[in-house]
Amino acid sequence: MTQCEFINLRNEKIAKKTIEALYKRHFEAYYARTKEEVKDKAVELIGKSDLVSWGGSMSLVQIGLIDYLLKNNYKVINRDIAANQEERLNLLRQSLLCDTYLMGTNAITTDGQLVNIDSIGNRTAALMFGPKRVIIIASVKKIMPDIDSAIKRVRNIAATTNIQRIASSREIKTPCLETGKCHDCLSTDSICSHIVITRLCNPQNRIKIIITDEDIGF
Ligand code: SF4
Repeated sequence: MTQCEFINLRNEKIAKKTIEALYKRHFEAYYARTKEEVKDKAVELIGKSDLVSWGGSMSLVQIGLIDYLLKNNYKVINRDIAANQEERLNLLRQSLLCDTYLMGTNAITTDGQLVNIDSIGNRTAALMFGPKRVIIIASVKKIMPDIDSAIKRVRNIAATTNIQRIASSREIKTPCLETGKCHDCLSTDSICSHIVITRLCNPQNRIKIIITDEDIGF
C-alpha cells in the first residue's frame, strides 16, 4: 500500500466512528471518499422540486455542487446575484424558509457535535431552524477530539483563514488578519459574532452530514 492509501484508511476509520456518534445524536450521516461521490450523495438527498439555498462555503464550491444546481435548473435562492446589500440581506432572510439548505461546518467533535462560527448569523440560524432540511459537507480534517479543540479550530483555523479570503475583496481590520491567530477581538469587522454548538439534531434526521476524505474547505 502507498502512504496515501494508509492515510485514506485512517481517515475513513475516523469518519466512520464519527458517523456512528452523529447517529446517536439523531443526525443522518454518510461517508463519501471523493468530491464526485460527495456531490452525487448530496444530489440524491436534495428533492428535484426543492427550493434550495446555501451558506458561504468553500466546500460546496469545491465539490461542484453549486454549479451543478445552477446548470440543472434547480429552484435556488442565490444571494451572490443580489444587485446591492439590501437585496442580499433580503435573500439571506428568504433562505431561512427554503426546503434544503446547504452548508459546511467549521468543526465536528468525535462524539458527534457540530461547532460553527458565524458573522451575521444567517448560516447558523438556518442550521438551527427554518429550512426543512440541512445538508452539511465536511472534510475529515474538521473532526476534532472534543468541544474545546473544536472551538480552538473554528477560531484559529476556520475564521482566521476565512478572514484572509474576505480581505482579498474588501477592506477589513481585525488583528487576526495580521497574525493569523484569533485575538478574541471586538472589532466591527469581526466575523465571529456567533459560536454555535449543535449537540443534538431535532427534529431527528433534519440535518444530514456527508463526511469526506477530500481536503476541502477551511
Ligand atoms: S481576531 Fe476577531 S475576527 Fe479574528 S478570529 Fe478572532 S474573533 Fe474572529
